[in-house]
Amino acid sequence: MRCVRGSMRWKPRSRRANSMTGGEPKLQIHVIPVTPLQQNCSLVWNDDTKRAALVDPGGDVEQLMSALAHFDLTLSRIWLTHGHFDHAGAAAELRERTGVSVEGPHRDDQFWLDLIEEGAQRYGVPGLRNVTPDRYLDDGETLEFEGVEFKVAHTPGHTPGHVVIYNQDARIAFVGDVLFAGSIGRTDFPRGDHQQLIDSITGKLWPLGDDMTFIPGHGPVSTFGRERHGNPFVADHITGYAGAAKQAPDAAEQRTSKRYS
Ligand SMILES: [Zn+2]
Ligand SMILES: [Zn+2]
Repeated sequence: MRCVRGSMRWKPRSRRANSMTGGEPKLQIHVIPVTPLQQNCSLVWNDDTKRAALVDPGGDVEQLMSALAHFDLTLSRIWLTHGHFDHAGAAAELRERTGVSVEGPHRDDQFWLDLIEEGAQRYGVPGLRNVTPDRYLDDGETLEFEGVEFKVAHTPGHTPGHVVIYNQDARIAFVGDVLFAGSIGRTDFPRGDHQQLIDSITGKLWPLGDDMTFIPGHGPVSTFGRERHGNPFVADHITGYAGAAKQAPDAAEQRTSKRYS
């Protein structure tokens, strides 16, 4: 976390991402560690419109509201990667205070969203609340924010309803607790599944490209390429992953299929 605290400038690399507005959206990302678990809540905003999205507001609502005020931003999106309290615990209160609806995760994580208060109590974190999203997310869906389209991948394993939210053109992914720099998410929770998590990573993340930068739920940012090389759980020499299947009939299918050596 220590490594990702603070702003990072972020601009879509191709004009394809800007087709909805015509101009180049000046999106910025500021990572705010929240709760005693130091969960990376991402504040994403457009510098021109001053409208913002929060990805995984796990707690510390006052801190998040101060960050919005500090940068003179209006909240317009709340996105959740999964139902664990350190990622979703502030969503209900933020929705109440701002009127912004909650999008994500996949419906299979609702049982976790119903356990937020219990989990928070166990860890001694006050003020977190259970939440039912206004919209569940499914694999392949699109989320629009300030003229930029973010895509959704359903990535079960850590939790059954975990999703990853990414933008191909800007080469950025919010991966929650699926993947970390040098590690992967725990799978010893109810309905966690180690092999499913590995399959989510090799099948849904790696095909997006080695130069994809990801912001994990905890710890420093990294790239998929770096993890394919050195991650002790999912490096290619461990998983046997050998790239997307080149024989797939079209480019889109190639990106989402996988091949093992
Ligand atoms: Zn988690
Ligand atoms: Zn977490």
